[in-house]
Amino acid sequence: MTSYRGRLAPSPTGLLHIGHARTFWIAAERSRENQGTLIFRNEDLDAQRCRPEFVTAMYEDLRWLGVSWQEGPDVGGLFAPYSQSERRHFYLKAWRELRDGGFIYPCGCSRKDVAESAGAPHENADNQDDEPVYSGRCRRRSDATSFDAPAGVNWRFRVPDGEKIEFTDKNLGQQSFTAGRDFGDFLVWRRDDVPAYQLAVVVDDAAMQITEVVRGSDLLKSTARQILLCRALNLAIRDFYHCELVRDEAGVRLAKRHDALSVRRLREQGKRPSELFRDASR
Ligand code: GLU
Repeated sequence: MTSYRGRLAPSPTGLLHIGHARTFWIAAERSRENQGTLIFRNEDLDAQRCRPEFVTAMYEDLRWLGVSWQEGPDVGGLFAPYSQSERRHFYLKAWRELRDGGFIYPCGCSRKDVAESAGAPHENADNQDDEPVYSGRCRRRSDATSFDAPAGVNWRFRVPDGEKIEFTDKNLGQQSFTAGRDFGDFLVWRRDDVPAYQLAVVVDDAAMQITEVVRGSDLLKSTARQILLCRALNLAIRDFYHCELVRDEAGVRLAKRHDALSVRRLREQGKRPSELFRDASR
C-alpha cells in the first residue's frame, strides 16, 4: 500500500447505471495502479431521495464488476463512519468555522426566486443539475453570527466575483472557471437542515485523507467551488481526475433514469462484466 487514497462516493438514489459504474471502475483501476487504498463513501445525506436498498444493490453491482474497496460502511476502517448520514458533527463543525470566518451568509430566497433571477437555464443539458448563478440578493446580510445552528434558512458561500479558479485535471488538463460568472454563491447548508453536497464532500475528502478524487466531468465546476471551500477551511486541495461522461446513442448523458442501462438490468440480460466497458477508453 502506498499513500494513494481514492474513493467511490455514490448517492444511493437509484440503481447504478453504466455511466456511473464506468467512473467507479476507473477509480478502482487508478487505485490499483497506484497500490492505493480505495474508500467507499455512502453519500446518503438526502433522506428524501436515498434508499438503503440502493446501497445494498450498489455493493452487489460493484462487486460483480470486480470493484473492491478496503474501507467502507460494510467493511469498516479507521475513518468510520463511512455513511454521510452519520457524519453530521463533522459538517456542523465546518459550518461553524465558515460562519465565524464570515465566509457564508443566511439566505431567505426561495428556490423559485433564485431560478427566476438567474434568467434562462443553461442550454447545455450536462448542466441540468447545476446550481443557477445566485443574484446575490442576501449577500450583504450580516446576521450570520446570530445563528447558533444552521437549520431554517439556506446558507450560501460568498464567492470572490471575477476571480479565476484554476486547476490541472489529471485526465482533462487545465481548467479555469470564473467565480460569479460560471458559478455564483453556492449552497453549503439547506433550509431543511441537510448539509449541501459541496460542504459534505470537502469535509469528508479531507477527513478521510483522500489524495485523488476520481469522478464524472459533470462535477468540474463543483471542483472549483470545492477549491474555494478548501481555502476557507484551510484544507489541502486534492488531485482531481474527471472522467468523460458516457452518452447514449442519441448523445444524451446517461442518468439513473435510464433504467435499461442499469448494471442490474444488464446483469439480468446475461452480460458479463468484461462486456460492459469494452469500448470505454480512458
Ligand atoms: N455523490 C455524488 C454523486 O453520486 C458524487 C460526489 C463526488 O464524487 O464528489 O453524484
